[in-house]
Amino acid sequence: MEIIILLYSLLLGSFFNVVGLRVPLKQSIVKPRSACPGCGHTLKAIELIPVLSYLIQGGKCRQCKRRISPLYPIMELSTALLFLFAYWQIGWTFEVIFAWTLISLFIIIFITDIKYMLIPNRILLFFIPLFLIERIILPLEPWWDSLLGAAIGFSLLLMIAVISKGGMGGGDIKLFGVIGFALGSKLVLLSFFAASVFGGIFGVIGMALGYFKKGESIPFGPFIGIGTLVVYFYHQHILDWYFSFF
Ligand SMILES: [Zn+2]
Repeated sequence: MEIIILLYSLLLGSFFNVVGLRVPLKQSIVKPRSACPGCGHTLKAIELIPVLSYLIQGGKCRQCKRRISPLYPIMELSTALLFLFAYWQIGWTFEVIFAWTLISLFIIIFITDIKYMLIPNRILLFFIPLFLIERIILPLEPWWDSLLGAAIGFSLLLMIAVISKGGMGGGDIKLFGVIGFALGSKLVLLSFFAASVFGGIFGVIGMALGYFKKGESIPFGPFIGIGTLVVYFYHQHILDWYFSFF
């Protein structure tokens, strides 16, 4: 089972790279075939093997030797490891399908937000019906917590965007609506808290190391993804730990 999940998720990760790079530019995700941005050389099957091709070619195009971004193999590997992790945590139940959907959404957003500082509507619109179907099959307890979560996630972020005068993008606001629907009212609040903590830590370290200046905007999407996945898998531990102080 693990081998099948590993192979499929590596291929999916590779596909998410294409989706994440092309959808924000409104390009087709099937045509044309992937090519080197340096020399235009169309990639052959041997150059399209997830992670392995990158390693074999030493991170360079086979033709023009231009460096290939390590983001691609990293995202492929992350997809595979997260898919396997979810399977080990949850086991072979319907819930694991939900977890894989959540991971897929965040991998794609990680790429679009890092590359283009954008969380495209088209990506959210693709995932909304998936979460809707999954929450009909496997509703939250009570079922309307999905609606409450969506309302809380959306309005909380909208409020912050208004107060911070554009410190939060429209994509972040809509994404939190989707997260609220998928995870419910309690977890969406925890997710926002976790995303802010991770983003804050990264911001402080990044500024200290001189990667960017104060006031420079950094994409929030990657931290929303990391925060939400941590909360999804570990919320019980986080809540137990929190309430142990009282
Ligand atoms: Zn090339």
